[in-house]
Formats: sequence, structure tokens, C-alpha cells
Amino acid sequence: MSKEVRVRYAPSPTGFLHVGGLRTALYNFLFARKKQGKYILRIEDTDQARIVPGSLENILQTFNDFKLNADEGPYWQDGTQSRGGFGPYSQSQRLDIYKKHAQELIEKKAAYYCFCNPARLEELRKNQEAQKLPPKYDKQCLTLSGPEIEAKLRAGESHVVRLNVPSDQTIRFTDVVHGEIKISSNEVDDQVLLKSDGFPTYHLASVVDDHLMQITHVIRGDEWIPSTPKHILLYSAFGWESPQFAHLPLLLSKTRKKLSKREGDVAVRDLLEQGYLPDALLNFIALLGWNPKTKDEIFSLLDLIEQFSLEKVNKAGAVFDLDKLDWFNSVYIRKMKPEELFAKTLPYLVKAEIPVSMYPTEFVSEILALEKDRLRKLSEIGERVMYFFKDPTYDAKLLIWKKSDKQIIIQNLEKLLELLKTTKPTEDNIKKFISDNEMKTGEVLWPLRVALTGVEASPGPFEIMKAFLVLPNGREIILKRINSAVANLYKI
Ligand code: GLU
Repeated sequence: MSKEVRVRYAPSPTGFLHVGGLRTALYNFLFARKKQGKYILRIEDTDQARIVPGSLENILQTFNDFKLNADEGPYWQDGTQSRGGFGPYSQSQRLDIYKKHAQELIEKKAAYYCFCNPARLEELRKNQEAQKLPPKYDKQCLTLSGPEIEAKLRAGESHVVRLNVPSDQTIRFTDVVHGEIKISSNEVDDQVLLKSDGFPTYHLASVVDDHLMQITHVIRGDEWIPSTPKHILLYSAFGWESPQFAHLPLLLSKTRKKLSKREGDVAVRDLLEQGYLPDALLNFIALLGWNPKTKDEIFSLLDLIEQFSLEKVNKAGAVFDLDKLDWFNSVYIRKMKPEELFAKTLPYLVKAEIPVSMYPTEFVSEILALEKDRLRKLSEIGERVMYFFKDPTYDAKLLIWKKSDKQIIIQNLEKLLELLKTTKPTEDNIKKFISDNEMKTGEVLWPLRVALTGVEASPGPFEIMKAFLVLPNGREIILKRINSAVANLYKI
């Protein structure tokens, strides 16, 4: 029987979750579900200085929003309790475990105490820089004798523990995405494993935890490839089998550079606040580096679980294109049921100071139905429908269709006003009016639409009037706006 698949997402709580982090979490989640394994959340909080309060809560909340809750990890919200049999899942609560393992490496001569002070290390670095050599510790403390080390430790001298990287070895590992990767051990620095404050570095902590938590596959961003040889050395020093590695491609901007904030490298929470729907965002993010090798682009979480495989993860960087995200979002908005659209857009209407509660629900629903096919993100809604709630101020020139004559436009609108005093403003009635009077369609419908909205782009005038007619005073609003448009035309 093959081993149960166990994967982990191991963020450092140094800020709110960004798209790259969500992608890593998602791929781990999908792989675990596909293989019927376990997906673990581990908090790598050993760099105490970089901790940002609230990060863990943000990760847990985001997982909840995306239905990506971990099978094991720090318990919901407070982070102090954990669920799963391999806890605690926050590294700051596992310090004794790392110390014990560092000790084991020292005994095996795979690691050693280093007492060099920052001034010496700085000088070493400068000399190497001057000689154009890569910065590397020179193993000076490896020459200390047992009694010398004892004496220094007894005297309470500040120290770290370093990995004793052997020289002239080829370190190799097979990455599921990148294939075989090899590097000479001469290029690997004697990495600090335990810092002077007794905290482990990422390298020691993550290897020890991946082993003790029985992680079978390490799925993480490409930026960790240079660290992996150190991890391979650690696994072999401990005599442990190393997990399989899969490094995910970088996220790039459209210009193929590092993703900037403007181009979408924002906290996932900000994207949700802008009104990107979780399902759309997840669908979009899933395709950043994973190629389903089908024509389809729309995948639910269940579809993704069914189709995901690490073998279909690309090596090359994935372009994060906000326009594409807008497209996905609009597809998902179009699929929403009216009640759902109402509930989801309500906070944005309120934010735009639209007094929704003063209007009949049918009116708001009618308006939302009009905008549904045009919306790219929910936050656009207030601006798009404002004219329904607030009388427009006109740029009178906008009322004139193309190169038409102002007088004709005025005349047409005045005639239309006459008609609408006695006739209902419906599509059929207005179309008949246009043909009976032999008017040009554009010279009626364009100024009518602008009279009703004041804006350059909107749904058509018939749809807008239909929505207004839901209101008891809808007809008056329509007449008032056409009147006021005419008055504005006289002024230019
Ligand atoms: N704590 C690391 C990070 O913040 C985890 C890297 C890994 O998955 O090994 O990304």
C-alpha cells in the first residue's frame, strides 16, 4: 500500500495573503484532495521580528472564503489550539524540537557551533566581495577543539549552529515540475540552522517539520529552489527520506517582470473587497501555472480537484493579467442567480450611498438585471447605476447625436414629450412614434438615452424606462428628465 499523501502550505505570518500564496495553498489543497490525502497548514513564525499581527487570522479567514480549509493546522481564529495529530502547527511552539535536532546534527558532525561575531562576518563578506567571490562562511569555527567549544559555551558566548556542508559533492534532486536539478556543494554556504536567540532558521525548522509531519510532497514557489539543496543535505544528515519537491512557476506581470502592486500583486482580501468573486478568483489563480490541456477555462473547485495534476504545472513563469481576471469575474457574475446578485451587490450600493432601502426591491432587481452582463467587478455597480437614483447633470453636447442638428434634437424630444403625456413610454409606442414622424432613430433614441442617464454609455433607453416604470412615479421621472434635457439644449 502506498503512503498517504500529506502536503502542507507553510506561510510566514508576515502580512496578508497575496495571490502567489493563495495559488500555492490552492495547488496543495487540490493535490491533497485529488490523492485523498491530507492538506496541512503550518505557520512558520520563527522570524519573530517580521511577524505582522493579524496575519494568521487573515490566512484562516481567506481559506474560509475560498473553502480551502486545512485538514490539520492551527485552530480557527485564535491560532493557539490545533487540530490534527502532528501539532503544534506553529513553529514558535516547537522550539525544543528544533534544538534537539540541531544537537543531533552536531553529534553527527553534520553541524557545528559558530562563535564568530557580526564584525568578523562582515569583514569576511567584504573581502569576498572585493575578490568577487560569492559570500560564504569560511568554516573557521569548525577548527575549534572540543574543550575550546566547551569553554566558550560555559562562558555563555553568543553562538549559532551552522550546517557543515561537505565539499566537492554533487547535490541532486528530482523536481516534479523542473526535472533533475543538481548543484555542486561547493556553491552552498554553511547555512545557519539555529540562531543566537535559540530560534531555528527556516531551513532547519521546515525540514524537521516536514519530516515529523510526514509530508510526502513539498509544493511551493520557485523562489525556494536555491534552498532545496540545503534541505537535501539535512535530510541525508538525519538519515531521513526526503519528500518529493514541486516548485511552482513565478507570477509575472504582463511585461514579464516581477509582479507589482499596480499589476495585481495585492492582498487577496483587497481583491475580494473590489468585488472579485471567490469562485472566479480561484478559477483564474488555478490557471496561473497549471495547464489543464483542454479548451475549457471555466472550472469549479470540484472540476479542479478532478483535473489537477502536478505533471501539468508549467515551468515557465505565469503571467498575472488583471484583464483576464476581469473576464473570469464577469463570466461568474453572469452565472449568478438574481437573489445572489442582489445580496452580493447590496454592500457596494450602500457604500456608494445609494439609499437602496427606500426603493422597491423589484426596482433594484430590475436595474441589477440590466447591469449583470456588463459588470466586471461588483465594486463598479454604484457608479454604473447612480443615474437611476440621482437626477443627472447634463453635458448638453452629449445629447446631440453624432453630427445632428441641435434644433432637430430639441424638436424630436419636445414631440416625444407630447406623446408621452398620453402614451406609455414603451418600446413599441416609441418605435411607432419614430416611424410615424419619419424621424431618424438615432436622433430620438440617443438623446432620449442621454436625457435619462446623463452618461455616455449605459443600457438602451427602452430597458432603462422599463426599470423606471417599476416605480410608482417612474413616468414622472422620465418626463422630468426629458424636460430638463431640452432645457439644457436651449442653453447651448
Ligand atoms: N515559510 C515559507 C514561506 O513563507 C515556506 C516555504 C516552503 O514552503 O518551504 O513561503
